Amino acid sequence: MLDYLIINGKYPDFETGEFKEANIGISQGKIAFFGAELQQAAEIIDAAGKVVSPGFIDIHMHEEWFGEEGEQYIVSKYMLGQGVTTCVGGNCGLMHQPAKVFKDTIAKLGGSPVNYMLLSGYNYYRTQLGYGHYEPTKPEDCEKIYERIREDVAEGVCGISFGLEYDPGITYEDMVNTAKAVEGDDLMIAIHYRADRSKGLGNLQELIDLQETTNKKVQFSHLGSCMALGKTKAALDMMNEYMEKNPRFSFDTYPYDAFSSRIGSAVFDGNCPEKWGKKYEDIMMTGEPYKNVRCTKEIFEDCRENYPDMYAVAFVMDSEGISAAVANPKGMIASDGILKDGNGHPRAAGTFPRVFSKFVREDKVISLMDAIRKVTLEPAKRLMIDDRKGMVRAGWDADLTIFDPETIQDGPDFSDITIKSKGIDYVFINGQIAARDCEIVNERLGVFIPYNK
Ligand SMILES: [Zn+2]
Repeated sequence: MLDYLIINGKYPDFETGEFKEANIGISQGKIAFFGAELQQAAEIIDAAGKVVSPGFIDIHMHEEWFGEEGEQYIVSKYMLGQGVTTCVGGNCGLMHQPAKVFKDTIAKLGGSPVNYMLLSGYNYYRTQLGYGHYEPTKPEDCEKIYERIREDVAEGVCGISFGLEYDPGITYEDMVNTAKAVEGDDLMIAIHYRADRSKGLGNLQELIDLQETTNKKVQFSHLGSCMALGKTKAALDMMNEYMEKNPRFSFDTYPYDAFSSRIGSAVFDGNCPEKWGKKYEDIMMTGEPYKNVRCTKEIFEDCRENYPDMYAVAFVMDSEGISAAVANPKGMIASDGILKDGNGHPRAAGTFPRVFSKFVREDKVISLMDAIRKVTLEPAKRLMIDDRKGMVRAGWDADLTIFDPETIQDGPDFSDITIKSKGIDYVFINGQIAARDCEIVNERLGVFIPYNK
């Protein structure tokens, strides 16, 4: 007998581009039945009017800080609450602990709210060697960094991440040399850009050159936060042309026109916020004693000095650029979710429902089918887990997100990220119900997924 039978729902058939009906049976973690007939099941779920989607895959987020915030799940519970079943941490060069520590902690806790993959963060290891942001990496230290990254690769990370804006001392040659020094043809190199505005397109060329030189999978991270200052269309034109020739290059973007970063980071160095053509009040702080407070010059300087780890949200991007990046047929949509003590940008909690409510249903800039594909099959292919995830198909892992396309709605906003989203009836992870009506019912169903295995 099946564990579950989901009846009357529609699933996306990416090959034909049509939604189709099927009864979907789940047993022992897998999609064990797929067809028109009824089957015996311990529980029958009526999904009439709903989409039975592959679980959402978030290729760009930031995992828990087990060392600093204790061995507890914060951001991954928000991931699960918005329909994500698999996510990739360690982005922007900023992994929060070595891969082994992360894996061991998940095992010790008996599972995680979502399945996890991880990147090895170059900046993380560079900082551990005592480097300041602007200092170039000395040749004698490079091998030490490679060795740590190789250890992470042996633990099953899916690639390497760089945060060029955070540590401008990292050169193009550092990236090429690292990519060459670490074995693994299919490793992904995910990069947080070097500089935005007029320098954005130059960055993009740097990443295209990196792809050509190393032939690794190069991922331009959160495109909007770099280019949606007037350069998105030019960047998309350039990337679409290159991706047509070389699908090993791709990008992700998040669906908000405000970015977020640590107020103490190099992002806020220099004549900020004048460099964005904005005012101090366009920057909002997210933690006490300035939670939800718009900056003045004095508050900005106080935070830089005394609360450097606090996340700031900067309302500086153009919404046309974000829309174009979300709607672009190529590329992926990802959250870039990151929180500090549970505080931060609502993208950590609302990205995926927002794609379907704002961009599919209200603005109609992307079809339901394409939006689902960009948060399921496309990242699954990129992560080489598309032989078991990213589609609704017999024999595939039963990671499923059942939602109502007419009512799905992101709850979290800039003043309160804890507001629940709506319209996601069920999230199945590895064959069991992990969330129901956007409420978590089991937060230990996820596992660490080693790359290429
Ligand atoms: Zn980043």
